[in-house]
Amino acid sequence: MSVHNPLGAGLARTDSRITACARQATTGGPVPVSIRARLNLMLGVMTVLGVAISCGWAGWIGSSQALDEVQAQARQRMAVAQAVRQFSETELRELLSADPLRFHAASQPSFAANTVLAYLHQDDPGADYREVALDPVRSQFRALGWEKTAIEAFRADPALTVLQAREGVGAAERWWLARPLRAEASCLACHGGAAQRPQAMAEIYGREHSLGWQPGQVIGAQVVSVPMAPAWARVRAGLWRTLALSLSIMGLFFVLLNFGLYRVVVLPLQAHSDSWRRLASQDMLTGLANRREFGKRADLAMRWARREQQPLSVVVLDLDHFKALNDRFGHAEGDAVLHALGQVLQEAIRPLDLPARMGGEEFAILVPGCTLDSAQRFAELLRYKVEFTVFPKGLAVTASLGVAQWRPGEPFSAVLERADQALYQAKSAGRNTVRAAA
Ligand code: GH3
Ligand code: MG
Ligand code: MG
Repeated sequence: MSVHNPLGAGLARTDSRITACARQATTGGPVPVSIRARLNLMLGVMTVLGVAISCGWAGWIGSSQALDEVQAQARQRMAVAQAVRQFSETELRELLSADPLRFHAASQPSFAANTVLAYLHQDDPGADYREVALDPVRSQFRALGWEKTAIEAFRADPALTVLQAREGVGAAERWWLARPLRAEASCLACHGGAAQRPQAMAEIYGREHSLGWQPGQVIGAQVVSVPMAPAWARVRAGLWRTLALSLSIMGLFFVLLNFGLYRVVVLPLQAHSDSWRRLASQDMLTGLANRREFGKRADLAMRWARREQQPLSVVVLDLDHFKALNDRFGHAEGDAVLHALGQVLQEAIRPLDLPARMGGEEFAILVPGCTLDSAQRFAELLRYKVEFTVFPKGLAVTASLGVAQWRPGEPFSAVLERADQALYQAKSAGRNTVRAAA
């Protein structure tokens, strides 16, 4: 098939006002978000969720473990203090108090517990053990802050045997554990009244201090406190490790799933959807757009023309006496002519024009940016090309064409109708001719 173009570059299809917008409008709008991009988004969200869940879980488990550890540490210290007090009271007091003129501090449970716990805390300077009272002989044993609260609580509730609390913020945060110190029968021997107090003790503490204790009276409290900061530091270190590990694992999953799903799912799916889209939008005989696709693109083109205030025209083409050609040469030869006509149209148009097979031997071409006048010259070129193309088996055909320009506001069916009427006039005028709608 070879043709000569008599109208040359003067044709409106070189109109420089046609912009990329028109191309976008007639080729189906913006490119949709790809399946791979959506897959990546989904995998990305899963990765972030996975990392967040594992870090949240590690943080939750780590914090409760840290709290358990600190509580156990405090309980352990308190147990040691209790044991030392008991040892002092039951084992040492009798031995050390044998000489009424000599006072041994180690026979005092309070002194013994404070001293042993101080040794114990030499390797653990953060932890602390105190035996405190609201009104002690020595000011260093005066209850402060939460210790005062604990003693008051023990006094208010005789059934209360243990009190715990988490106090302070940041580096000052500590776990507190207290037990009440109640005056027992053995205490009253020294603290009951001035008369009973042993001579040796009276010489050190005086006759008037820490006297008048009543059986069962809360005279103070044993208080253990343990800093929380080292436990939180361990939790943080564990969190960083979990974060690094979960990021590596989820990152690896992301890459593997991305690659695997792309190969196994996305590529075959894209191939299928491409072929379905082609089937739904293409005419199988000519490879041109079908009527349905033409309607969709026409809508986009109208929107573009309205927005950019550009002209938009349509050319309709119908082969002359095609039935006779079919009858004479057979349906297969007729098909070959239609197929070749599709190629003629493809070669004649600008990249942004849209040729379509509307059905049978009827075609339409959407020409954005063309006025009625330039669309008519384009139609004349097409008519000429069809007439002078040598079709398969040396066949020759002619075509009649109708042209109409879209009027802003009218539906596309209306402009198509006017172009069809112009085509009918071309047929009536003897065929192989072009007519424009008024
Ligand atoms: P006119 O000049 O008035 O258009 O005459 P015509 O014979 O072309 O018009 P008509 O509408 O009477 O006939 C159209 C013919 O197109 C009828 C049918 O045989 C033929 N045709 C329609 N679709 C196909 C097709 O897919 N393949 C072939 N080979 N022929 C087709
Ligand atoms: Mg016809
Ligand atoms: Mg027809």
